[in-house]
Amino acid sequence: MTVQFDRIALIGIGLIGSSLAHDIKRLGLAKEVVIATRSAETLKRAEELELGDRYTTSSAEAVKDADLVIVSVPVGASEAVAKEIADSLKPGAIVTDVGSTKASVIAQMQPHMPGNVHFIPGHPLAGTEKSGPDAGFPGLFAGRWCIFTPLEGTDETALKALGHFWETLGSKIDVMDPLHHDKVLAIVSHLPHLIAYNIVGTADDLGTVTESEVIKYSASGFRDFTRLAASDPTMWRDICLHNKDAILEMLARFSEDLAYLQRAIRWGEGDKIFDLFTRTRAIRRSIIEAGQDVDAPDFGRPHTLDKKG
Ligand code: NAP
Repeated sequence: MTVQFDRIALIGIGLIGSSLAHDIKRLGLAKEVVIATRSAETLKRAEELELGDRYTTSSAEAVKDADLVIVSVPVGASEAVAKEIADSLKPGAIVTDVGSTKASVIAQMQPHMPGNVHFIPGHPLAGTEKSGPDAGFPGLFAGRWCIFTPLEGTDETALKALGHFWETLGSKIDVMDPLHHDKVLAIVSHLPHLIAYNIVGTADDLGTVTESEVIKYSASGFRDFTRLAASDPTMWRDICLHNKDAILEMLARFSEDLAYLQRAIRWGEGDKIFDLFTRTRAIRRSIIEAGQDVDAPDFGRPHTLDKKG
């Protein structure tokens, strides 16, 4: 693989930042990778994991002479990072981010970006429920979408260079308007996480009544929500606060549809219930056909008999 950038600065080295570091190293995409994170503890761990070539707690220091800067911090921290790096950016550098909301990140970062850098907001649709530098792994972005929400007048060469970078990691690129991105993500990602957080919270409240039964019988369905509900609280608090309008709109739709289902159950309207469940089952099939999941039963969990048992 060929070097694409002389120096890449990674600001934030959690799940996403460290996965990027693994891939940049594995694929030899930079001559030098500089890592910056807020805390000395996380920085030390990144160094132990040998994720980069140089390490600092100063984002301003990290971006000096960097050709590509990737900001991977909770979306609510975007403005603070933009302010900190603004005066140290190299003219002609590409600055991008990986934040899960786009309109808010643009509003926070763009006003601080000097005119001589290329600020291209981005969002890789890849991740797990884990966080921190130990959570990252090579190949996280392979086969997954990376959405760019470029601003008007974005330099085509810079956009192509960033697209080439993500494609080298195995991602597929899509370009969207930031508000449209936020609406789409509200339904495909933010609402499912909120439903999961809510169900697990409700079950936790009931847990005091049913004691350990919630855990004991969790394989009946509850368990599948707990993966989403184990996602990083800081990241998801920030997503809720920074995609407020789209999330509230989707929650309103969700509540209406739930009321429809509630009514159908109350009045014994089996045809309505059956029609809905048939429609939703077909969606699972489309996801598998689109290569967004594998067709293994029970999400691929092993169900072999224990030979010793
Ligand atoms: P993470 O594992 O929790 O790592 C967060 C990183 O940001 C750490 O280096 C942390 O530094 C730093 N950080 C936290 N708060 C900060 C603050 N106030 N100011 C400056 N730095 C701060 O998070 P992640 O999962 O990699 O997520 C990073 C970004 O990617 C988020 O914007 C998220 O929306 C987006 N994203 C996440 C996923 C996912 O599934 N996780 C998928 C796509 C996009 P310290 O540890 O040193 O404090």
